[in-house]
Amino acid sequence: MNEARWVEEKLHGATVSQRLRADRVLLDRKSGFQELLVIENPIFGRTLLLDGVVQTTERDEFIYHEMLAHVPLFAHGSARRVLIIGGGDGGTLEEVLKHPNVEQATLVEIDETVIAASREHLPEIAKGAFDDPRARVVIEDGLSFVRATGDRFDVVIIDSTDPQGPGWRLFTTAFYTHCRSRLNPGGILVAQCGVPFMQPNELSSVACRLRQVFREVSAYRAAVPSYYGGDMAFVFATDDAAKRRTPLDVLERRFETSGVTTRYYLPEVHLAAFALPRFIRDLMASRPQPATAESGGF
Ligand code: SAM
Repeated sequence: MNEARWVEEKLHGATVSQRLRADRVLLDRKSGFQELLVIENPIFGRTLLLDGVVQTTERDEFIYHEMLAHVPLFAHGSARRVLIIGGGDGGTLEEVLKHPNVEQATLVEIDETVIAASREHLPEIAKGAFDDPRARVVIEDGLSFVRATGDRFDVVIIDSTDPQGPGWRLFTTAFYTHCRSRLNPGGILVAQCGVPFMQPNELSSVACRLRQVFREVSAYRAAVPSYYGGDMAFVFATDDAAKRRTPLDVLERRFETSGVTTRYYLPEVHLAAFALPRFIRDLMASRPQPATAESGGF
């Protein structure tokens, strides 16, 4: 019998790693931006890695994509136009387009090969969302797009890689400033912000930068098993503090009338996700520390 191939994901300046058994390798190629690998693992199913870092897996993508999309959309309540930056696997797009109020979802992805690879090898993640007539796909750097566009959005979702590689621009104050200027009044921005236990400086730096731009900045969390190290943090920024405090009965009414089906998101989960353990709350309030080899771009 052939030896199983193992893929090692080295993280945080190669201080820790996790290994996934690759029973099949479906794709192994370089684009002009990054290295793409799609493998099949018995627990996670088909798994996409970019530059050796796990981006999404068939089995746990619902946790990440539902929390990234439904928390801002149900907090907003009447979003019609949504901007997704990154997200080339299509999972966030699929969740956004479940909302009947959404008239258009614009996805701005720098690397078209990620979309092509996901459509071919991970069709269960986007579930046809790229073919929805409300989906508009733009192949461009997210910072260039928000700097130049005249469009306005109700919700901006940043579904990016970590700040190494082409994702670094999506963690800058300039980028957040342009995003805010493209939001309609009452708009909301959310972004994935790493695993705070492993990447504490990412969360404190992003919170600090967002606070220079938005009146209300908070964070919520969810544990995504393929992202090593515990809870993942998402930041939530708006100028309308009431959006962050949308009460349970309102969320429940919106959720029920929307007809959106979920496996992770529920209105109670939405509210509970904003309850932060003390070390994460402290990170939100603390000054970023000087970057180190382990802190991954921050
Ligand atoms: N769920 C993932 C995670 O946190 O690991 C993110 C997945 S999604 C595939 C990230 C996408 O962001 C990638 O496809 C990457 O090409 C895209 N991306 C990185 N930098 C970008 C930029 N500057 N503008 C637009 N898209 C970018």
